[in-house]
Amino acid sequence: EHTPYPDGARASEALLTRARKVVPGGVNSPVRAFGSVGGTPRFMTRARGAWLEDADGRSYVDLVGSWGPMILGHTHPQVLQAVTEAAAEGFSFGMPTEREVLLAEEIVRRVEPVERVRLVSSGTEATMSAIRLARGFTGRSAVVKFAGCYHGHVDALLASAGSGVATFGLPDSPGVPASAAAETIVLPYNDLGAVERAFAERGSEIAAVITEAAPGNMGVVPPAPGFTEGLRRITAQHGALLVSDEVMTGFRASAAGWLGLEGVPASGAPDLFTFGKVMGGGFPAAAFGGRAEVMAMLAPEGPVYQAGTLSGNPVAAAAGLATLQACTPEVYARLDEVADALTAAVTDSFGRHGVPHRIQRVGSMFSVFFREGEVRDYDDARAQDTERFGRFFHAMLRRGVHLPPSCYEVWFVSAAHDDEAVQTVVSAIEESAAEIA
Ligand code: PMP
Repeated sequence: EHTPYPDGARASEALLTRARKVVPGGVNSPVRAFGSVGGTPRFMTRARGAWLEDADGRSYVDLVGSWGPMILGHTHPQVLQAVTEAAAEGFSFGMPTEREVLLAEEIVRRVEPVERVRLVSSGTEATMSAIRLARGFTGRSAVVKFAGCYHGHVDALLASAGSGVATFGLPDSPGVPASAAAETIVLPYNDLGAVERAFAERGSEIAAVITEAAPGNMGVVPPAPGFTEGLRRITAQHGALLVSDEVMTGFRASAAGWLGLEGVPASGAPDLFTFGKVMGGGFPAAAFGGRAEVMAMLAPEGPVYQAGTLSGNPVAAAAGLATLQACTPEVYARLDEVADALTAAVTDSFGRHGVPHRIQRVGSMFSVFFREGEVRDYDDARAQDTERFGRFFHAMLRRGVHLPPSCYEVWFVSAAHDDEAVQTVVSAIEESAAEIA
């Protein structure tokens, strides 16, 4: 039995006050700010396995997992060793290294339609570069994205972007030129009719459709049967590329990401994929890749420019490679078990205490909507009881469980969530459900 932590957190409060003087909002990424749930974000000091420790010396079971990368849990021994060895050999060369080849080979081996990859340092860079490449390859400018899908803070992709943008209720961001937004066509997710109509109107202008392989940034909203296949069919008919954003699902939803679960659609594979999070093992590494013919347009082979001082950084590549190598079938089996246990606990406790909810899941990726009924798109996702989620979030935090501070996010589990960690979460769910009922 866990005695709940008090509401205040003095060391974190003091750090936030100092941070605000030198960093906008005191945080380096908006989702960290507890914007929609209120209160003080906890400043972390260390982490191991499934557990985090904050500046006040409190422990939490981590269900944020650094927003996706920490699939093995924190400071996994094999990854720590790989990182330490790589760092001792040199931090950055700005010249090619074998580790980059090994990481690229590992990605190509796992995701069959990917023939060539380029390593970058963030998911944002990956999608930004994939869009530029699609525009260069097709000679067209317009891009279709779906409301509620987040692809990083790329100008052209910020419209109706879910995740942090939804958490803060921002419609779009100032600073994105009207000209960039004008080239973006935002459509409702899971609506093939809307895609057909957009292509009927502007088909010859559209360079690409970009979609989260299985969206996780409006909560988990799986593609309806036939949706991905339809996107592939329509884009192919009109000479546009299909970009599958697997930054979140990649190497998590299965060993080969969402593609590994759904399989290659009968109408064909996406042309380009983007990856991040797990493939960097907690370090800044991401990638985009796809068909050799398209990737050959990239400099120095082709004319589409893309570059990075730290791209393929040896320490990040070592962390990513060690993480992917440690992602054995047993790891994916454990992720599924943990997801089974936590979703069962939510169903049971929320059900008994009469808290309206809906769980949606792809592989071990799941989220809990504070509403009833199927969630098929962003409008459905936004019709949630966010106030009640905020109370649930703090009830869990007091009981030593750190959820993502937004009801639009996945509950990220890791293979290091052992029975003790799972039991802590299960008990916290029961007590918190009673508290918010
Ligand atoms: N695409 C998806 C699907 C994501 O979930 C994210 C990050 N949450 C990104 C792109 C952007 O990645 P990064 O934060 O590394 O720029």
